[in-house]
Amino acid sequence: ISFLCDACGAKGDQAPYVCLQCDFMVHRGCTALPRVIHINRHDHRVSYTYPLGRPGEWKCGVCWEDIDWSCGAYLCSTCPNYALHSGCATRYHVWDRIELYGVPEEVEDTEPFKVNQDGTIAHFLHHGADLSLNKDGIALEKGILCGACVRPIGSHTFYSCSYTSFVLHETCANLPKKKRHFLSPKPLSLRYPNVSYVRSNI
Ligand SMILES: [Zn+2]
Ligand SMILES: [Zn+2]
Ligand SMILES: [Zn+2]
Ligand SMILES: [Zn+2]
Ligand SMILES: [Zn+2]
Repeated sequence: ISFLCDACGAKGDQAPYVCLQCDFMVHRGCTALPRVIHINRHDHRVSYTYPLGRPGEWKCGVCWEDIDWSCGAYLCSTCPNYALHSGCATRYHVWDRIELYGVPEEVEDTEPFKVNQDGTIAHFLHHGADLSLNKDGIALEKGILCGACVRPIGSHTFYSCSYTSFVLHETCANLPKKKRHFLSPKPLSLRYPNVSYVRSNI
């Protein structure tokens, strides 16, 4: 039989799971949808909500197609208009296969530095001493390299340590510690020197 799955909104043609009393039909695979998950292209968790319920124009954050609000979908609790088809949210390269229901949400620490009262910063790339911003437009000699990207500081604004020769471009200092990328189900961590984001196991 052909049916419209109430859980994910997609068509089905194989034996559905049915509740005759409430006229409810779902794919076999949709009976075990995870309740709370983190996907690789959004910073917040999304939770399965049935039905989506709020009439309106809903576009899926993965495939950008419409979502039928009478069916189930994944919703972000922080962003009012972020929704995902159940099928898209639980795709292999989108979801990391971890059910987060009941797992307390830890706010991911992506801030690369904390600002001190005196305006200096404590940067995660340089432990132990604070860095201060130099805006005077002094050009540093070629041999002085940024501790993150390993390129000369030149005439860019930069942070420097008053105890060591450690310097950072202002732009490099602002790079987040972790980033989510749609090519990876896990957040990427900033690796230095060279400034690239890599998969980590944490
Ligand atoms: Zn389904
Ligand atoms: Zn029922
Ligand atoms: Zn979709
Ligand atoms: Zn969100
Ligand atoms: Zn740099």
